[in-house]
Amino acid sequence: MTDSAGNGEGVRPNSLAGDKSRALLQRAERVIPGGVNSPVRAFRAVGGDPLFLARGEGAHVIDVDGRKYLDFVGSWGPLLFGHADPDVIAAVTRAASAGVSFGAPTEAEVELAETIVRLVPQIQQVRLVSSGTEACMSAVRLARGAASRDKIIKFAGCYHGHGDSFLIKAGSGAATLGLPDSPGVPTGVAMDTLVARYNDLDSVEAMFDRYADEIAAIIVEPVAGNMGCVPPERGFLQGLRAICDREKTLLIFDEVMTGFRVAQGGAQELYTVRADLTVLGKIVGGGLPLAAYGGSAELMARIAPEGPIYQAGTLSGNPLATAAALATLRKVEQTRDLYPRLEALGRRWNDGLTALLRARGRDYAATRVGSFISLFFKSGPVRSWDDVRRCDLDLFARWFRGMLARGVYFAPSQYETNFISYAHTEADIDLALAAASEVLAEV
Ligand code: PMP
Repeated sequence: MTDSAGNGEGVRPNSLAGDKSRALLQRAERVIPGGVNSPVRAFRAVGGDPLFLARGEGAHVIDVDGRKYLDFVGSWGPLLFGHADPDVIAAVTRAASAGVSFGAPTEAEVELAETIVRLVPQIQQVRLVSSGTEACMSAVRLARGAASRDKIIKFAGCYHGHGDSFLIKAGSGAATLGLPDSPGVPTGVAMDTLVARYNDLDSVEAMFDRYADEIAAIIVEPVAGNMGCVPPERGFLQGLRAICDREKTLLIFDEVMTGFRVAQGGAQELYTVRADLTVLGKIVGGGLPLAAYGGSAELMARIAPEGPIYQAGTLSGNPLATAAALATLRKVEQTRDLYPRLEALGRRWNDGLTALLRARGRDYAATRVGSFISLFFKSGPVRSWDDVRRCDLDLFARWFRGMLARGVYFAPSQYETNFISYAHTEADIDLALAAASEVLAEV
């Protein structure tokens, strides 16, 4: 951070935001609920006011007050190559000058689908949509339609967007704001969503004991990211696969966060396990609104116009989003050291953090899968939502604020994951560790 916090009128206690951010929030609150277009952005869980951002450059963001932060949010995951990547900008600019939307097929969509099919082993056909929420809703509709069954199993603390079926014990902003079961979700819809415990196959078996022939699909984040980063324990994902095979239930991997993040082929490649349907978002769109769901050609043939299960979108396969997606996936394919480097940076952070924690006699769980990182303010291992909910949220808020005051921008909730990008350097990681050392001494 490059300047000091002002003390203008109407300053809220503990605010870390500058004058211009605070003034914008006041304007925004008059016309946008809570002043933000997605709840976690409001910083409610950590106190203070959100930063209004003006620019991004590689691993950094710059707010409207001109303060520069080292960024570990990365737009919540999409920016694998950092902010304002020149290749993405060039591709989007080129596409824009040819027309921003047609609502008709384009060559770039075909190329993008071919690229996704080439990179993600279990996808033979893919449908492009505009958000992770839409992709998850569509995948579940396909599973229900294909299986002629209504119920799905999800896991407490996992988040699959804000579709009605998923706002039952949901993670991410829903958990952050204490709204895991949102009002407005019809009881009938809620009854068709069964909630199991992450990393606990027995809890899944218990659902099948009770509802054997009614369960269309299990949907899971193969590395949970919406209750912080909770990695799957050995055998968990394989166990889900075996149960689904036995019960003729479809396995949906929500790889909105893990896709192209933990490996080129996502969690399915990293853990050598096969899903029937794969949901992609975030990185696949290169920072523009694009997501996707796909699976075998046979299953995808159930989607309209090929089959009877309806799903559509005016802006689906939008030329700008498609251009950003293609530019990003080209880099994913062509950057030889991408995953080794993300792994090395992730390890550098976690080894450093673990040493700091040990030196201070704290046994908080620092979890990581590659460049996907979290710090849980609780003792002992973190396997599921039951563990995560025991975190000391006040301590988390103080950690967040201490890091932000030192110019390091982490996600403003204990229940979110942080991301390292290819644009981060070893020196960036060391800088964040130096800040962490100071903050851990304080909190
Ligand atoms: N699934 C997962 C795993 C996610 O992390 C998210 C968003 N954080 C979604 C689905 C929803 O995606 P979107 O916000 O693009 O609707």
